[in-house]
Formats: sequence, structure tokens, C-alpha cells
Amino acid sequence: MKSHARVVVIGGGVVGASVLYHLARRGWTDVMLLERDELTSGSTWHAAGGMHTINGDPNVAKLQKYTIELYKEIEELSGQATGVHVTGGVLLAATEARMDWLRGVVAKGRYLGLDLEEISAEEAHRLMPLNDPKQFVGAVRNSEDGHLDPSGVTHAYAKAARKLGAEVHRFTKVEDIVRRPDGAWRVITDKGEVVAEHVVNAAGLWAREVGRMVGLELPVLAMEHMYLITEDMPEVAEWNARTGTEVIHAVDFDGELYLRQERGGMLMGTYEKAGKPWSERVTPWNFGHELLEPDIDRIAPSLEVGFRHFPAFQKTGIKKIINGPFTFAPDGNPLVGPVRGLPGFWSACGVMAGFSQGGGVGLALSNWMVDGDPGADIWAMDVARYGDWASMRYTNAKVRENYSRRFSIRFPNEELPAGRPLRTTPVYDLLSARGAQWGVAYGLEVPLWYAPEGVKDAFSWRRSTDFEHVAREARAVREGVGLMEISSFAKYRITGEGAEGWLDRLLACRLPQPGRMALAPMLKEDGKLIGDFTLANLSAEGPPPLTPPHKGEGDSEALAAGTGASAAGATLTPPSPLWGGVRGGGHPVQEWMIFGSGVAEQYHMRWFETHLPADGPVRVEALGLSQVGLSIAGPRSRELLAKVTAGDVSNAAFPFMAIRRMDIGMAPCIVGRISYTGDLGYEIWMAPEYQRHVFETLTKAGDEFSLGLFGSRALNALRLEKNYGSWAREYRPIYGPLEAGMDRFVAYSKEAAFIGREAAQAERQAGGRLRLRAFVMEAEDADVIGDEPIWHGGAVRGWVTSGGYAHNAGKSIAMGYVPKEIADEPDGFEIELLGRRHKARLQPAPLFDANFERLRG
Ligand SMILES: Cc1cc2nc3c(=O)[nH]c(=O)nc-3n(C[C@H](O)[C@H](O)[C@H](O)COP(=O)(O)OP(=O)(O)OC[C@H]3O[C@@H](n4cnc5c(N)ncnc54)[C@H](O)[C@@H]3O)c2cc1C
Repeated sequence: MKSHARVVVIGGGVVGASVLYHLARRGWTDVMLLERDELTSGSTWHAAGGMHTINGDPNVAKLQKYTIELYKEIEELSGQATGVHVTGGVLLAATEARMDWLRGVVAKGRYLGLDLEEISAEEAHRLMPLNDPKQFVGAVRNSEDGHLDPSGVTHAYAKAARKLGAEVHRFTKVEDIVRRPDGAWRVITDKGEVVAEHVVNAAGLWAREVGRMVGLELPVLAMEHMYLITEDMPEVAEWNARTGTEVIHAVDFDGELYLRQERGGMLMGTYEKAGKPWSERVTPWNFGHELLEPDIDRIAPSLEVGFRHFPAFQKTGIKKIINGPFTFAPDGNPLVGPVRGLPGFWSACGVMAGFSQGGGVGLALSNWMVDGDPGADIWAMDVARYGDWASMRYTNAKVRENYSRRFSIRFPNEELPAGRPLRTTPVYDLLSARGAQWGVAYGLEVPLWYAPEGVKDAFSWRRSTDFEHVAREARAVREGVGLMEISSFAKYRITGEGAEGWLDRLLACRLPQPGRMALAPMLKEDGKLIGDFTLANLSAEGPPPLTPPHKGEGDSEALAAGTGASAAGATLTPPSPLWGGVRGGGHPVQEWMIFGSGVAEQYHMRWFETHLPADGPVRVEALGLSQVGLSIAGPRSRELLAKVTAGDVSNAAFPFMAIRRMDIGMAPCIVGRISYTGDLGYEIWMAPEYQRHVFETLTKAGDEFSLGLFGSRALNALRLEKNYGSWAREYRPIYGPLEAGMDRFVAYSKEAAFIGREAAQAERQAGGRLRLRAFVMEAEDADVIGDEPIWHGGAVRGWVTSGGYAHNAGKSIAMGYVPKEIADEPDGFEIELLGRRHKARLQPAPLFDANFERLRG
């Protein structure tokens, strides 16, 4: 074994082998895989070998399709048989609600290029003869399902990688990993030491243990999983003889079962309700090619359904039951990517469907290592979607829940209860007492809506019990004043003498003056979006300048205000007595805040830290819940603010996009004049110990204005009628600023060479490929949620990113991307929802306050 390698991949399961292959394919051949035993010695060897393309996240589905298509390539290159059989399959629905869900899957498949088709239960029976059609209401045919030989696939990856120059060392156990002062990693094994630039944790069942070697507690847990194999079945033999084909795959969602032919019999696996974790704290190192004791009682309820839905099973014997462990992250998707704070340490674990996802994981990770970017939108499997709050116990609760619900429907208005409440803010009980119905974002409880006594969400694909109450909340904002908890936003503080220069290169906008905010897109080197923020300049530099700052392209504070006139005028206003003023003995103090999407806190911190100057005087902190927030919005919000603070908050003194330190009641706060509702409004930030006081102060003073509480569902309704997009929906790392309509906020020609400038300029010249658009849909009793196809001219041309019912406008709105060539056609669009195409009309101007009068007034 050599003493140095560019990359050491730890783990010779299907995932590690795929990563190795993909790195070698990208030309990184100085790479080695270390496996403590034989290849496949974790979960891989006893897998059922099923593969499928569908996934709740369309981007993961694309990578699953890639994985399945890859098997031919590795088989040819390696000469190793993979045993791939693409049989096709049927996805069976026993209820109408499940059928609605499946229709959504088919619709998504249209723009993902998946071959899916809705069929009747009888047709499903003709294709897969073992099911009893009376038990089902319908089905979907999927031509890409199939199965393979888990060991063959893993060896094919490894052999193909070796042919390209990679090394594989079996029976080499990694015992420790130590960071050297020069940043390289010492990988210490029982066979000696390797120094590597990069280390990949693909240790599967032992991913936690390998993580712990570098001080990382990964949110993964193994669950026991069982499938049975029957004796030979005459029904199978008859089908094989008559058709010359195998019995195809079946997924029976309502029975929580999957099935396929295995030799002359059938294989049936289940995700039982009473799932059992395995090795909850530590995975034993002496576990290898062993199986766990089957526990038929645990899976008996599922088998009972299975035997009813597939009657031929009642007449056959069970040859064996396999029980083996494999790992899950709390949401069931893999944990992939660079680990924040550990440069050169990469995660490729928590892969629960290695034979559907392993190829995509290898592709994304190798791109990321070689190019600095995964080359695809892999947010759904990015390791950065979890923070420290995803503790061992939390993971345990969530993984059990996820396992038991693997085939359950999750309705768009359904919140899952396990592991909650975990993170709460000080007003949690005050809001609960007022009927808050809670959702969760990045582990934090967030109020979705406020229910009257005795009312709660009835889970549905259609408008539900909350509809009229969310309408009332949205009305309270537009007609008077509403109050919302906004602690779930991410807040970052940037300080130090180098802060301004660094932010100027990091962000694509022009930086705001002290006391001002700006909308701030952040781009990657390829010119695509990697963040959309509000940047606030809290630096205390004495009075603001008496000459207006340059107002031009990328001056987002002006553009966000419509014409920019009022914002420009504001900088001439003398500082308010509430302004923080000069601190630090009269020397300029650099202090900036960035506000962004709360779920992306770790993701963005990783980006910030990766781009910090090595020796620069810049400090970035994620403030988490050390700053919490409340927002007031609506035409009377200024009157309310005036009542609870001593300063002048008139439009002249405190205009749109201004930010100030001011006391609310007795509490010191930072108040920004901005609101995602698109209305006159304010975001108020404070240390948590003041939040209850500020809440009580605002609600008491708000009585006179009939202040109403509103939650994130009303906020969604409000922002949709303003055509405002949001991170992880409209704004994702696959769209350029022009495509996303964020180009107005990009200062293409500012002096600082910001990251992604050249690529963004090129996008602007070439015009990009897509455009983000808002549509008004002729919907009846249901609204889009995201990922629905957009039709034009009889073909699927785009996809919905988000939507909902805009209560004040009284319209059903969808936002989504379409090719630029058709992006300005007013008519001819249709959006597919619950199996039907609905007419949709382009809505170029916001339905609310198109002239920014409320926002700026
Ligand atoms: C019963 C059962 C049925 C399944 N059916 C399917 C299915 O039909 N389809 C599907 O897609 N998936 C299925 N799975 C899941 C699938 O097995 C996993 O997704 C996949 O095997 C994960 O692969 P991995 O490479 O991440 O991890 P593992 O297979 O666990 O591999 C990790 C490897 O790392 C090695 N290792 C760990 N620590 C070290 C160290 N310190 N030094 C050196 N080497 C180390 C281990 O020895 C091991 O070989 C099933 C799983 C089970 C248990």
C-alpha cells in the first residue's frame, strides 16, 4: 500500500466502490479504497437488489435514473456481470388518496423523462398476475424497475475503477484519522498509514464510527430490515412458461410491501410499522457477513396484508427470511458532500437505497471533489441539511418514524410528530395558547397557522380545514396589521476590518450604506445562485454620507423599492437618535448582518467559511437562536411600531430598506423595514430573553389595530401575490440570476470581482435557458405544492417550484420555470394537478401592490 494518495475512500460497499469509480472516471486516478474485510461486508451483500427511479425529490429521482443507466457502462468496462434485470414494475394503490399521490408521481415523471403510466387495477393484474385486482383501485406502470446482483455491481464498480488506475485494498481497517497541520489527513490503518488530501466516509454501517474519528456525530442509524423468499410457486412457473418473461416487480404501498421474482419463487420485503433499530449507539467492528435473527411476529401484520393482496402466497412455503441492517438519515435521504469545518473530509453515507442511488452519489461527490460543485441540484441529500440539533436521540426518533412510514403518504399539510418539539423559541407557549399549529424547519418549531379551539389540519391533497383560517390571517395583514414569529430565518453576523471587501466579492449586489439593507444574490463560480439574502449594513461609521450613493444596476435596495427614489432620499436623512452610533472609541466598526433561509444555515456557513480569506480580518457567525425575531406587517404596522418605540418611524425617517437599532418597549432590538409579505412591514430582531416582552408589548399595543397573528401558510399566500420567490424552491443552485429574475439585484459591473461574475455576464449575454414565471391557475379545490408539470402547446415544457392560494387576490398561484422562448406567451399554459390539466395564465405583474405604493409608502 502506498503512503500517499490524493483520495482515500473508506468503505467497500456499493457506495464507496461507486465513489472510487467516479473519481477515476473523472481522471483522479491517485485514489484508493480501503475496506476492512471483503468488499460488500456491510449492508451491501444481503440487499434484495431492487432498483427503481421514483423518489419524493425530483433531483434525487434524476440521479436514480442515472444510477440504473450506469450499470451497462460498468459491466462493459469491468467485464464483471452485474446481474441487472430491468423487468419493469407496477406501483399499486389500494385507496383513492394513494392514487392521487401516484398521479403526482406520473406527472413529475413527465419532465424527469421517466416512463410511467397510470393504469387500471385490472391492467396491473394482467402485467403482474399474482395480485388480486379487487384489492386495488388503480396502479402505475414503471418500465425502469428491476433488480440486480448486489455483489456483482459492487465488484463491477471496483474492477472498472481499478482498470482506470484506482487501487482497492481489502482487509485494511481504518482505525483513526488525524488532521495534519498542513491540512492533509493521516489515515491510520491496521496495515500502516496513508496521507491523503481528501478522505471519503463511505463506511455504511460504520459511518458513525468513522465520523467520530474526526469528531463528527453523523445523524445516521441502522434499522433491521426483513424480506422473505418463498419456495417455488406454480403460478410463477406458469407465467414464466407462458410469457417467457419474469414476474415483474410490484410495490404495494398500502400493504407497505415490495415484491419480485427470485428464482422459481418470489421475494417479498416489508417496511413494518414496528421497525427496530440496530446498534443504536455503536456498531460492533466484528459484525461482517452475518444476518440478524428473523422476527416474523414483527412483520406479521404486513405479511397478512401481503397474503391477502397477493393470494398465491397463501399456498406456498417460506424458504428463508433475511434480516439485515442498513442505515438511514432522519429523512431517509443520503448524507453527501463536504463536511463543514473539516476541509477535505467528505460524506457519502446514510444511503438507504444503494442500488438506486449509489451511482448518483458517486457522480455528485466526484464532481464536487474535482470541480468544486456537485454538478446537479443535490440539496435533498446534502449533508449540510442537518445541524448539531440532529442529535443521536433525535435521529433515533426520526429514523424509526421514517422507516415505519416508508410507503405511507405524506400529505402536503401533514407534519410528522417524531422528535418534536426540539428547538423552540421563548414565545412558543404563548403562540400555542393562541392556537398555533406547528411545523418544523431545521429542527425549529414554526407556527404554520392559528386554529380556533377544536379545529386542526385534516390531511388532504386538497384545500382543507385551515383554508378559511389562513384566509383570515392573510386578511388581517392586508387590512390592518399582522404579527409573525420569524426566528426560523438564518441570521449571520459579519464583523472585522475586512468584512466590507469580503462581502463585496462574495455577494453579487452593490453593498448598502450604513443603516441600509439590500437584496443580495450570492453566486457560484458557474454563475448560478447559491444564496439569496438580505444584507444589512449595521456598521457604525458616524452620520451617513450627505451625497446619495451610486444608484445603478445591482443596487437592490433601490430596485426592490420600485424606482429607488425613496430609498435614495433616505440616505440624506440625519441619523436617528436611536441609531447605534459610533462605537469602539470613535473608530469605524464594521458590522454586517445577512438574513437568509433558515434551513440552509449549515449549507451557507460551509460556503462562507470555504471562501473566507485565510489570514483576513473577517469573522462570520451563524447567530442561530441567539437572535430571535418577530415581524409586523400591514398598512397599520407603522402606527403600531410608533406606539411601542420612542423614535421617529415616519416614512422619511425610517424608509423602506432602512435598518436601525431601537427599543421596542423596554427591549433593545434591531428593526429592519422590510417584509416578505410585500406589504409595509418590519422585521424585529432581539436576544431571546426579550422576545416575550416584545411579543406582549406588540400584541397589547396592537389591540387597537385588531392585530392578528399569522403563520407561514398565510405568509406563503401573501408572498405569492407579490411574485416573491424563496430559497430552495424558486432559487436553487441550478438557476442563473437572469433565469430566476434576480438579475435586477446583480451589480454586473461593480468594481469588485465577485464570485461568478464572468459566468453571470455570459448568462446575461446569451440569455440563459429558462425563466421563472408566476401563473394564475384555474384551480377548483386544490392548489399546486411544487413539482407539478407545466404544459404548453400540448407538451410538458416546465415545472412548478411552489404555489398555493393567494387569499387576498382570491387566486390560485403557481410559480415555476419554463424555457425562455415561451416565457412571455400570455396563454396556452396548463398545469397538471391531481391527474388533470388546468388552464394557467401568465401573471407578469404582482397581483398585490404592483406599483410598490404600500411597500414604499
Ligand atoms: C435486508 C436488506 C435489503 C435491502 N434491499 C435493498 C434493495 O432492494 N435495493 C437497494 O437499493 N438497497 C437495499 N438495501 C440497502 C442497501 O443494502 C444499502 O443501501 C447499501 O448497501 C449501502 O451501501 P454502503 O456502501 O453505503 O454501506 P455498506 O454496505 O455498509 O458498506 C460499508 C463498507 O465499509 C466498510 N468499512 C466500514 N468502516 C470501515 C473502516 N473503518 N475501515 C475500512 N472499511 C470500513 C465495511 O466493512 C463495509 O464493507 C437493503 C438492505 C438490507 C439490509
